[in-house]
Amino acid sequence: MTDTDKCEVLKTVEGIPEVLFKIIVVGEASVGKSCIMVRAVKDEYKDNYEVTVGAESSTFFIKINGNIVQLQIWDTAGMEKFRSMIKVFFAGSHCALLVYDITRKETFEKLDVWLSMLKETTTPDIKIVLVGNKKDNDKERQVTYEQGKQYEQQNGLFDFVETSAKTGEGVINTFIKVAKALFAEKQHVNSKDEGDTKKLEQAKPKKKGCC
Ligand code: GDP
Repeated sequence: MTDTDKCEVLKTVEGIPEVLFKIIVVGEASVGKSCIMVRAVKDEYKDNYEVTVGAESSTFFIKINGNIVQLQIWDTAGMEKFRSMIKVFFAGSHCALLVYDITRKETFEKLDVWLSMLKETTTPDIKIVLVGNKKDNDKERQVTYEQGKQYEQQNGLFDFVETSAKTGEGVINTFIKVAKALFAEKQHVNSKDEGDTKKLEQAKPKKKGCC
């Protein structure tokens, strides 16, 4: 996959998806997880959403080089009282958006707790994207871009981005980038499997007539 790949977010489904990827959105309460999901799925923003109880999912579709990729996005509750319950939803995730609020330092300081929960409940190949949300509110900023970048690098995360669910900045592009990376990886595995099957078939001893 390269930057020149043709990629488009689909408003309606135009066929059978080639593949489905599960993405979870995690982080402290009120960092903007629900707003990020709604921005991605509906391209809308509202100031107040009901508190997420447990987890809620939405779907959106992206066409990459003619292939339809389905993203199932799970918005999880950030409140402490839901912690043990939401872990169940982490299993089987291909990607996690680990969200903090750039205007609330305490949400950045809690990232380690979320990261350990992800490590406990998912496989090591999960792609974790660190997301610093509420970028539009720069005058209230308490966490610098450099601090976010450093956290990404120190923890070997897949990517770091600052977003604004309010203006839309960075949101869709983050999902597109993740979808492209996951799809490219899937294609690579598929072509490797095909190669291995061919090699196995070639290695099979040829039958020489009847025994
Ligand atoms: P969640 O608990 O993490 O799901 O957070 P919500 O999505 O419910 O958002 C919590 C509050 O932050 C709401 O009042 C939102 O309007 C506000 N909010 C969410 N995203 C942004 C953003 O990008 N910029 C600003 N300024 N406010 C945001």
